[in-house]
Amino acid sequence: MTDLFEKHRHIAERHEKMLAAGANAVGLTNDRILSPTRAIIKGRETILAGTNNYMGITFDPDCVAAGQEAIAEFGTGTTGSRIANGTYAMHQELERELAGFLGRKHCIVFTTGYQANLGMLAGLAGPKDTIFLDADSHSSIYDGCTLSGAKLVRFRHNDAADLDKRLSRHDPEGGGRLVVLEGIYSMLGDRAPLDEFVDVKKTHGFQLLLDEAHSFGVLGTNGRGLADEAGLEEHCDFIVGTFSKSVGAIGGFGAGDHPLFETLRYATRPYMFTASPSPASIATSMAAVRKLRVQPERRDRLRGNSERLFEGFRKLGLETGCDVVSPVIAVKCPDEPSTIAMWNALLDAGVYVNIALPPGTPGKLCLLRCSVSAAHTFEDIDRIVELFGEVVASGHGLMAVGA
Ligand code: PMP
Repeated sequence: MTDLFEKHRHIAERHEKMLAAGANAVGLTNDRILSPTRAIIKGRETILAGTNNYMGITFDPDCVAAGQEAIAEFGTGTTGSRIANGTYAMHQELERELAGFLGRKHCIVFTTGYQANLGMLAGLAGPKDTIFLDADSHSSIYDGCTLSGAKLVRFRHNDAADLDKRLSRHDPEGGGRLVVLEGIYSMLGDRAPLDEFVDVKKTHGFQLLLDEAHSFGVLGTNGRGLADEAGLEEHCDFIVGTFSKSVGAIGGFGAGDHPLFETLRYATRPYMFTASPSPASIATSMAAVRKLRVQPERRDRLRGNSERLFEGFRKLGLETGCDVVSPVIAVKCPDEPSTIAMWNALLDAGVYVNIALPPGTPGKLCLLRCSVSAAHTFEDIDRIVELFGEVVASGHGLMAVGA
C-alpha cells in the first residue's frame, strides 16, 4: 500500500531543518495580540511588521463595537450559504456600500478573498474560455483558473508586450478571453503597469480582472486601488478585493458593471457551496470600509511610513523587491539558510516580518517581507530599520550592505 503522506516527506524534512534553526517561521504563534503593531511572541513584546494590517484598523473602537453588536444581535454564525439561509440584510448592505465606494453597479461578497478569486474566475471563465494570467499571480488566482476549467496562458510578470504577443498567437475559437492582474503584487510590492495593459486591451479586446487585494484602501485618491490611482477604472471590467488586509476583518468581494453580473451568484461554486461571512465579519468590514472612505489621512500615514522604511532599507544597502514604494517592502536574501537565520535573529531582537521562500516566491527568491501599517509610528519604523541593520552587521543575511 502506498502511504499517501509519502509525497509530503520532503516537507517534513525541510520543516525539521527550519525548526533546528529556531522558531517556526511558517506558523509562528502570537500568544497575545496587543495592538495592530504589537504582539507577545515567544514571551516578549514584538513589533509586528508582517501583518498586512495596512490601515491598522483591527482595534478601531467603532469596528470592534460593530462586531460585538452584530454578534449580540445576529449571532455568531450564519450557518448557511448565500443561496440557502445565509443571506442577511447586512450582506446586501455591505455589497451596496462597496459598489458605491467602487463606483460599480454590482458587488458580490464572498467568505474570504481566496474564495472571491475562486468564485470570480470560475464563474467568469469556463472550459471554452482562456485566462491569461501574470506568471507571479497569487495562488488563489491560479486555483481559480484551475477550478474554472479554462485554458491557461501565462505571460511574463508585468510584461504587457509579452501578453500582447501571446494574445496575437491565440485563437479564441469562439471562447472569451480574460486577463488577470494584481494591483500590488504581494511578494515584491510592485504594481501592475496598468496603462500598458490597457493599451493591449484596446488592441485585442479582452475582459480584464484586477485583484486589488493589497491595493484596495491603500492606493488612489479615493482609496479604491491601483485602477483609481492610475485613473483607469473604466477599463477594468472586474475588481476583486479582500477584507483581510486594509479592512482588518475577513471576507472578500468581486465587483463589476456587466448587466449579467448577478448571474454569478447562481453560477459559481465558491459562492454557492460555502457558509456566508459571519455577522461579526460583515459588521466590522462595513464599519472599516466606511472609515476608509472618509479617512484619507490613514492612507497618508501609510505612505509616509512606507517611504520611511523603504529609504531606511536603502540606506542600509539592502536590496528591496522593487524600486517603487508600496506598503509591501521585501528584502532579498541570498539563500534559504541565511534567510531563516536572519528571520530568527530579527524575531529574537523584537521584530516580526514574513519569511517567503521558494516555491512560493517569484524567481525562486528568498525574501524577508515587511508590510507597513498606518498604525506604525516613525519610531517603530526607525526601530525596524535599526534592527535590520544590527542583524545584518552581526553577520546574518550575508547579501546585505553593499553586497
Ligand atoms: N489575492 C491576493 C493577491 C492575496 O495576496 C491574497 C491573500 N494574501 C488573497 C487574494 C486572498 O485573500 P484572503 O486572505 O482574504 O483569503
